[in-house]
Amino acid sequence: MGGSESSFKHGATGELAINTIDQVMHSLRELYQLRVFENQDPYRVLIRTILSQRTRDENTDRAAAQLFAEYPTLDDVASASPEELEPLIRPAGFYHVKSRRIIAVSQMLQEEFGGVVPDKMKELLLLPGVGRKTANCVLVYAFQKPAIPVDVHVHRISNRLGLVETRTPEETELELERLVPREYWIELNDLLVQFGQTICRPVNPRHEICPLADICACYQDILEGNP
Ligand code: SF4
Repeated sequence: MGGSESSFKHGATGELAINTIDQVMHSLRELYQLRVFENQDPYRVLIRTILSQRTRDENTDRAAAQLFAEYPTLDDVASASPEELEPLIRPAGFYHVKSRRIIAVSQMLQEEFGGVVPDKMKELLLLPGVGRKTANCVLVYAFQKPAIPVDVHVHRISNRLGLVETRTPEETELELERLVPREYWIELNDLLVQFGQTICRPVNPRHEICPLADICACYQDILEGNP
């Protein structure tokens, strides 16, 4: 990297950021396929996203498959008891809280939204326990609307690369919305999540095989002896 690298440590701006983001998206598109969840069914995407909180993808897959095998529709889930759902969603962890939450969400969708998942952030945020990350996931993965869901992977990688310098996922979302061209928004979460699971892992990131090492502020710091 040349003299411009140090700028990344303090948050990329302007043309520099756009070039970096182009490079990031280009590399990640070559590495990963975009995934489709729950056939883009908005209700199932929403419930799956709630199940996915604080667990790994494979646990979410098992919990969602078991749940929808026995309770395939919104009406089925809305009329279930937490005790009926808990054993099915147990693989996702926090199953006491999550069972109650998905029942409450389903009941509210029935009562307030005519059984239809809304496709607007403001309305999604009215659902119990639904925050910005979950709402953004629904917009992207169910409705293919441009949004940037910021989970732990997106937050960590954006900071490591030096695209942002933020302390919370909420700050990262605002910064990325400012920096990333809208054409990339739908892909960004999925590509960074896969990258975070395989290369830029939370612990022991695989710098040696990373295609972004040359533009990564964190890695440049390590090379300079300032980890
Ligand atoms: S060089 Fe290392 S820290 Fe930087 S993006 Fe790649 S894996 Fe992550």
